[in-house]
Amino acid sequence: MPMNSSLRSSYRERPSRFNSVSEKTWSSWHWQHQHRLRTHHDFDGVLYLSEYERRAFDDGADRFRVAVTPHYAALMDTDNIRCPIRRQALPHPDEFQDYPFERSDPLAEEEHMPVAGLTHRYPDRALLYVTHHCPVYCRHCTRKRKVSNPDTAASKAQLQRGIDYIADTPEIHDVILSGGDPLTLSDRRLDEILGRLRNIDHVDVIRLGTRNPVTLPQRITPGLANILQHHRPIYVNTHFNHPAELCKESVQALERLVDAGCILGNQMVLLRGVNDHADTVMTLNRMLLRHGCRPYYILQCDMARGITHFRTPLEKGLEIMDQLRGRIGGVGVPDFVVDLPGGGGKVELLPEYIVDRSPSEHGEIVTFRNFQDEEFEFVDVHRD
Ligand SMILES: *Cc1c(COP(=O)(O)O)cnc(C)c1O
Ligand code: SF4
Repeated sequence: MPMNSSLRSSYRERPSRFNSVSEKTWSSWHWQHQHRLRTHHDFDGVLYLSEYERRAFDDGADRFRVAVTPHYAALMDTDNIRCPIRRQALPHPDEFQDYPFERSDPLAEEEHMPVAGLTHRYPDRALLYVTHHCPVYCRHCTRKRKVSNPDTAASKAQLQRGIDYIADTPEIHDVILSGGDPLTLSDRRLDEILGRLRNIDHVDVIRLGTRNPVTLPQRITPGLANILQHHRPIYVNTHFNHPAELCKESVQALERLVDAGCILGNQMVLLRGVNDHADTVMTLNRMLLRHGCRPYYILQCDMARGITHFRTPLEKGLEIMDQLRGRIGGVGVPDFVVDLPGGGGKVELLPEYIVDRSPSEHGEIVTFRNFQDEEFEFVDVHRD
């Protein structure tokens, strides 16, 4: 077991407003859920809102709801509006700036729905939306169009039709539970869904896409871990974006998942002003690896409405990839992917490592550069 004593703890750093809350209460996910901060008044005694943040609260309540767990709020820097955690969870007037290229459904997820609540884009994989709720509404969410909207949640009957579709479609080998955040569902409901999917013979892989280890790690209870263990191996893809999110509570959640036989991956979204530095990504990836979570993707922030202020140029992602390669082992190097607008799917981008090609008698001489920008010649063989 790794030592966690050097990690910060959200309980120890809890805002003065929660001073009288016991550690036991703090560690209850029900309590955390019920005490989420939603209005700007809720932030009194938590942190001082900037003029921008206050204005965004006033103007934007109906566009994309605000919800922040006390846990996630405790990790925020109270004095610094550039705090990477704050930027991810507090509204900003830039969200209301519209651009003509933005789309409400950038990945055309609704178009590739053979039945409601299920996207089947790649032949072997299906994305099943089981809820539209999340503990914290990330300001950079690509599914803003429906996440946080209570009117569009999946009904029981709809979910049943989604599972029936998977059962009737033998090409599907990999099912991703998504949302919203699937861990918003009760243990009983999750157990039932996982059980049904496990009963489908052609389903090899069950994945759970959840940000709870980051935003509500208290949700990963021993009871939930038991359920996941029962249906193991569950591939859990989580969404850490910054090293400051890896606190004692989150690490305990990751350890419980690892102990339950889950296979952990991280899908980081590249966000301007949050994690658009190679050093930040390197630190995050080292910490994740230490706790059994493998960096899986760096996702280019897409063309969803209201998140353009978070986007970085593609060049930035390539630069970070270039910095990672050679400086951290291969298990710490994720793929940098762009999810193409209109439902084109994910495409991986790599820095260019070939600097020259020239013909020779025995084959082409390909000149590579390595991570230190040294050049090496490789003689390629002729094609048959
Ligand atoms: C991202 C995504 C998947 C999973 O893709 P992987 O590259 O296998 O992680 C599946 N279906 C849809 C619609 C997706 O957007
Ligand atoms: S947890 Fe995921 S689905 Fe929920 S708001 Fe954040 S990015 Fe969107």
